[in-house]
Amino acid sequence: MAKKKKEAPLTGITISKEDDFSGWYTELINKAELADIRYNIKGFVVYREWATITIRKMYKKTEDLLEEKGHLPLTMPSLIPESNFLLEAEHVEGFAPELFWVTEAGNSGKLPERLALRPTSETALYKMYSMWIRSYKDLPYKRYLSCQVWRYEGKMTRPFLRGREFHWIESHNVFATMEGAMEQVKEDMESTYQILQDECCIPMIFFQRPEWDKFAGAVHTYAADALMGSGKVLQLPSTHLLGQNFSKPFDVKFVDTDGEEKYGYQTCYGPAQSRNYGAMIAYLGDDQGLVLPFDLAPIQIVIIPILFKEKEDIVLTKAKEIFERLKNKFTVKIDDSDESPGSKFYNWELKGVPIRIEIGPRDLEKNQMVLVKRHDGKKIFVKDPDLEKVVDEIAQNYTREIKEKSMIDFESQIELTYEKDAAIEAIKNGKIVACGFCSIDLDGERCAEIVEKDIGAEVRGKRVDEEKHEFATCLICGKPASCTVYLAKSY
Ligand SMILES: [Zn+2]
Repeated sequence: MAKKKKEAPLTGITISKEDDFSGWYTELINKAELADIRYNIKGFVVYREWATITIRKMYKKTEDLLEEKGHLPLTMPSLIPESNFLLEAEHVEGFAPELFWVTEAGNSGKLPERLALRPTSETALYKMYSMWIRSYKDLPYKRYLSCQVWRYEGKMTRPFLRGREFHWIESHNVFATMEGAMEQVKEDMESTYQILQDECCIPMIFFQRPEWDKFAGAVHTYAADALMGSGKVLQLPSTHLLGQNFSKPFDVKFVDTDGEEKYGYQTCYGPAQSRNYGAMIAYLGDDQGLVLPFDLAPIQIVIIPILFKEKEDIVLTKAKEIFERLKNKFTVKIDDSDESPGSKFYNWELKGVPIRIEIGPRDLEKNQMVLVKRHDGKKIFVKDPDLEKVVDEIAQNYTREIKEKSMIDFESQIELTYEKDAAIEAIKNGKIVACGFCSIDLDGERCAEIVEKDIGAEVRGKRVDEEKHEFATCLICGKPASCTVYLAKSY
């Protein structure tokens, strides 16, 4: 007879992701205990343990990749004097509405100069670069910071996806030539695919942003968009070609091989780890809760002993033996709490643990156990001696399986359109629209305004990886198309 268990409420998500993405996301954050929005400054959010562990793993992967590609780490102060900002006019104009200022300190009252909490570090770092970089031998100069930045965000905030404080990596690089800088932009895009698409399983497209929508002070901005559940795109990391727009005002110069003093060409790249995390859980999660790539899960395997009266000891002993066999290679936990097996299943599904191992007295008699994969719910009966082999196989394929499914879903979300009415319809149905467009230079801005007004979408930019485009004319003005652009609603 089954031992009487405490009947805990089942903890699965109650709001369907498909029906109400936003409500689903909020419930996921609360029930899986990923963030707490009750901290008493608006837009500032506490990241809980389960989220923090994964975000730290994401940092580590990104940092390792940057260092592999020749970037060195730096630590910079979080305050930037106002005078630094004033050096680059477009940059200060772009960021002014979002800055937090420190104006007073201790008993001495008002500070002689306002200090900004860094919204991004160009104006802090490049002052230093002008002192550090001397000759062509110092180039390329590739550095990165892992830090927090603060922006007084006006749009509605949402844990991980948009807040007034976020956690990111910013990489800032100096080259002797514009071509060198452009190569770096390409490398940054490649790195983004390696981390976000291969490791986090988020499908995305890189766009060159239109002239009217680029980073304040950049020559060009290249940004990745991912399509979230509600038919809206979310901007993920962007990389900016700064050219000499900052090196001139900040005096970042080097003596070239010909003995001449020249201004460097710069790039910056900002993969926001907290936002990438938000995008990942929003994209991969389902109505049972989180789905996490194998490497990024805080716990990879949970062992659930199914306890019956009088058989408890042998089942627990077996669970501990399995734990010992797996713990050196994986992060493993035995859940021997008092909850019913059903509650435990719900709870670990909610948390996105990739593999669940169930072991009960009847399994013991058959010398087997049951493995359940979180992302597709597949149940596998495994004979005891095969355990390590089967777990290894699941671990090796798990992330790739999620990625492949994501990529297929994503492709089906893109619709090619040749007429405005079709575009309106497609956007209404939550698709990304690909269409011909006259120009992403300032000449095209009028057509972009019409896209916003009539189609209810934004021109996200020109697809970077596209060799040639197939549209003859601009969807809006009918003039010859210079490129394919993508239209979508955005967060
Ligand atoms: Zn046009």
